[in-house]
Amino acid sequence: MKQNNLRFISRYKEAIHLSAVAILLALSWALRQFFTLPELVTNYLALAATISGGYPIAVKAIKALRERELIIDTLVTIAAVAAVAIGDYGEAGFVIFILLLGEFLEGVTVAKTSQAIKGLASLIPDTVKIRRGSEEVEIATAAIKIGDLIVVRPGEHIAIDGVIVRGEGAIDQALVTGESTPVERSAGDKVYSGTILATGALEIEATNVGEDTTVAKIEQMITEARTRKAPLERIVDRFAKYFVPAVLVFAVIVYLLTFDIRRAITILIVACPCALVLGTPTAVVAAIGAAARKGILIKGGRALEAAGKITTVIFDKTGTLTNGLLKVVEVKPICAEHDEKNVVELTAIAEKLSEHPLAKAILEKVAEWEYIVASPDDFTVKQGQGVEVRNNDLHIVVGNRSLLAENNIALSEEIEAYMQGREERGETVLIVAHSTEDCLGSGNGQDKNKDCCAKAVCGVISLADTIKADAKATLQILRNRKKRTKIALFTGDNARTASSIAAELKINVVAAELLPADKTRKVEELIAAGEKTAMVGDGINDAPALATADLGIAMGTLGSDITVQASDVTILHDDLASVPQVLDLGRKAVWVIRENIFFALLFNSGMIGLAALGLISMVIAAIFHQISSLIVILNSMRLLVMRKRS
Ligand code: ADP
Ligand code: MG
Repeated sequence: MKQNNLRFISRYKEAIHLSAVAILLALSWALRQFFTLPELVTNYLALAATISGGYPIAVKAIKALRERELIIDTLVTIAAVAAVAIGDYGEAGFVIFILLLGEFLEGVTVAKTSQAIKGLASLIPDTVKIRRGSEEVEIATAAIKIGDLIVVRPGEHIAIDGVIVRGEGAIDQALVTGESTPVERSAGDKVYSGTILATGALEIEATNVGEDTTVAKIEQMITEARTRKAPLERIVDRFAKYFVPAVLVFAVIVYLLTFDIRRAITILIVACPCALVLGTPTAVVAAIGAAARKGILIKGGRALEAAGKITTVIFDKTGTLTNGLLKVVEVKPICAEHDEKNVVELTAIAEKLSEHPLAKAILEKVAEWEYIVASPDDFTVKQGQGVEVRNNDLHIVVGNRSLLAENNIALSEEIEAYMQGREERGETVLIVAHSTEDCLGSGNGQDKNKDCCAKAVCGVISLADTIKADAKATLQILRNRKKRTKIALFTGDNARTASSIAAELKINVVAAELLPADKTRKVEELIAAGEKTAMVGDGINDAPALATADLGIAMGTLGSDITVQASDVTILHDDLASVPQVLDLGRKAVWVIRENIFFALLFNSGMIGLAALGLISMVIAAIFHQISSLIVILNSMRLLVMRKRS
């Protein structure tokens, strides 16, 4: 809120400044015209307008000069001083006024864009009600501490991230994720700052406050995004650096050839590469703003440009193409002393601390019979393979074949055949093994204690996932894009499960049984083959691949921040359709940037030509110059309207 006020005040000041300059100019002109006051007086008024309007520009120019830099303001300052020197007071004042007016209009339009982005923070209420015993007290949002109980009523914004302890309600997450249907939440569910309670009543225990809330993190990402320049912008900046001195030299040459100082001044005014310099950043900000409103966070111009050039999109399977909401469909005990329940309970101990969707499915299963899961000692995640834990003197290993092989545990032909049968249906099969200490992980277990190891596999659990409802349609959109896009599936799951899913989704490039490092290597291979790659993943076991791809897209990240670091684009919700949207937005942004640069160069050089030939006056030059900047800005604004497809 405070920030908004400050911005408003500064805009207000600019407007007053602008009006003051305008009044001085108008007075000077009117007095000469209607009251035929001596020129001396009217000239003084125009000079006052020039100085008061031009002062901040000159200060900037001088500051830059101290750093041995020639900037656009340098050209304007020289032009104004020269115009005054030859007695064109009125013209000098008018040129300065036009430049200020242009800047003001630019400020207003750019502020509009920023607002599209910055809308979130202003929605966080300044105060909240918290429960203290039986009382409800109102405190400042900034004063909320972790563990406080926040009371939220319908229509109110949720100010912090937390867990519902009492009540239930429908939460509108549209402002954060862009998803328009409210989601039902009740005790035990997580809620996020920036969302709105549509119906119901909630008491929420604060888990993240201040800088750690979802909204604060989103804001921080967007702020950072705007400082990361696009490669195209860097090129333009470098160009502008040489452009300004070149214009100065050109103006001097024209003067020496024509002895027409007005022509030289006109060149200085018209040549300012403002439109050129504005072309990229305005487009980037508009595109990032459009995406942010849909719950898509793009980490700056580089990411945006990369998105525009993608030729291959690689998907992770679990949690990305599938819902990641796995269900246990069959439990098969292998050894005599365990029944189905035992097998799942052992597995639950091993998976208790894991974040993997598979682990969640197991824990959900035991929750059905209210089994209290013991906390394991020594929990080890084998990325892309499974988990290993110790519980008292028991070693439990849960994972895939490669993890079992690493532990020297053999699978009987019978189990293998059973597993293959399940996998062909697209299910993921977990092998659960346990043993006493000397048997497992001893490198050569089989010789040491044959009996124990023969019994090591105690069961297998088959889990089924469902393909996301929008997966098929999204892949079709990608295939039908104007820029043909190839699709690949990289997964840590086994080849049969992967092929079954790939067949259903008609993906023909499939690589399975990949460890995180293999995924990365595979991405590198594609890059080496000349593909521009986008990797779409949920960040579990695929963060390195996200970081390696030309564009890393992390999905479904609301409430988890593991992947945000590694990715270039973060999609807060689970909507796969955002993937083609991001690519199209990138493509469109690259086009708009190119249009802007092309237009600015053409317009600038055309105007320089006219000025050199003495065909336009200083005032016309100033007006045209501003118009070109505004055209570029308006062109960029087109990106704010993000269409579904382009
Ligand atoms: P994906 O590439 O499909 O997202 P992951 O790389 O996350 O798959 O996992 C690959 C395989 O590793 C899984 O199919 C499973 O067999 C095994 N695995 C990974 N994490 C676990 C876990 N926590 N418990 C058991 N198995 C696991
Ligand atoms: Mg995964």
